Amino acid sequence: MGSVIEGVWGFCLNACLKQQNIHEYKLGWIYGHTYNDFACVVSDEPWDPETKQGELFRIEAKSMVNSADESKAHFDRLSRELVPLDILAVFLWDWQRIKPGELTVYPAIVDAFVGRALPVAHLRDEMHIQRGGSFVTEGNCPDGCSPQACIHLGEPLNANGVRERRTGPQTATARSVSYAANFGGLLRMLGCRSEEGRSILNRYYNEDETVRRFLDFMRRNFNRVSQALE
Ligand SMILES: [Zn+2]
Repeated sequence: MGSVIEGVWGFCLNACLKQQNIHEYKLGWIYGHTYNDFACVVSDEPWDPETKQGELFRIEAKSMVNSADESKAHFDRLSRELVPLDILAVFLWDWQRIKPGELTVYPAIVDAFVGRALPVAHLRDEMHIQRGGSFVTEGNCPDGCSPQACIHLGEPLNANGVRERRTGPQTATARSVSYAANFGGLLRMLGCRSEEGRSILNRYYNEDETVRRFLDFMRRNFNRVSQALE
């Protein structure tokens, strides 16, 4: 259902642009990506998602179910893959009855965050290190790649040295899993076990307007987050 909500959002946004007589730009859906990724494209220019020709910025759409304890929504694009204009859009939804007492339910969007992706990625990365994780740096790849040939720069490794993404170093796996897939979980990435984690969250909250809006969105909806913020 989350994927449908994300796709319909893109469709509705284009309808809104048309309604407001804005024809210079439109939202393009990027074919072949695992997640729902959109690009803001210039209408009368050829668009090439490979080279990003004809696009102004990208939008990553994520959805979370309010009633699920652990959301499956992952924001795991590497910081180095994001440019300052890129946008993160998160929709929180839940099943609601059409009318009180009615049996028919529909997926209602109960809250949302739309803002720049990069500051949120920076917070995510710092929290990852605080939990004992690391990132592949030049000359330090577990695969032993030469710095020129390494395609794993910036890939996250968890506290046990296991790659977090399928694209991480091939030798950084565990016996049970090929990759950990915890990195960027929208709720999990804010988890802190120490005073240090809480102080990182609060520092970003006080210093970055985008992160503040993101954390306000999360704390409105998840107790765990509001407890970590002072
Ligand atoms: Zn490498």
